[in-house]
Amino acid sequence: ENGHEKIDYVFKVVVIGDSAVGKTQILSRFTKNEFCFDSKSTIGVEFQTRTVTIKSKVIKAQIWDTAGQERYRAVTSAYYRGALGAMLVYDITKRQTFDHVARWVEELRAHADTSIVIMLVGNKADLVDQRAVPSEDAVEFSEDQGLFFSETSALNGDNVETAFFRVLEEIYGVV
Ligand code: GDP
Ligand code: MG
Repeated sequence: ENGHEKIDYVFKVVVIGDSAVGKTQILSRFTKNEFCFDSKSTIGVEFQTRTVTIKSKVIKAQIWDTAGQERYRAVTSAYYRGALGAMLVYDITKRQTFDHVARWVEELRAHADTSIVIMLVGNKADLVDQRAVPSEDAVEFSEDQGLFFSETSALNGDNVETAFFRVLEEIYGVV
């Protein structure tokens, strides 16, 4: 985590999914270990970075956030260009955001590299009382589609680190 080390690799990872599922907060949790309670909808920040070490290689994760382009097909192919990983986020309390996941996978298959590592992320796992998407549904979908799967909470930090590391390690394994 310091700026003096030499960087061995830069891995671009995109964060996608419907609006308000917590994409920006997941990113902020991973890169700054922060959760912002009064965050506005994303205001044009392109990406944030965090440097990690995997198997003694220094890897700069360059993680891209959509700038309110979450409408279907509004994310441009430039966003996906060069991406080695994708965090496809839905909200476990909003069934519709999970029902749209298949569209986002289509988007990835259309615009991203075929070898992209995809992690399906069920966020807001802290809101257990409001759960609308059983984990089993997401497990089944992930297995069908060949995705990794994790449930996270950007609010309390659960699994955020693990999910990103899983993706970065998987990318590292194929470069
Ligand atoms: P985005 O539109 O996908 O970037 O979503 P945001 O990151 O802006 O989050 C949308 C809303 O969900 C905000 O009010 C966040 O505070 C809230 N939120 C994000 N992540 C979580 C989480 O893990 N748990 C809970 N309870 N709320 C969250
Ligand atoms: Mg956002």
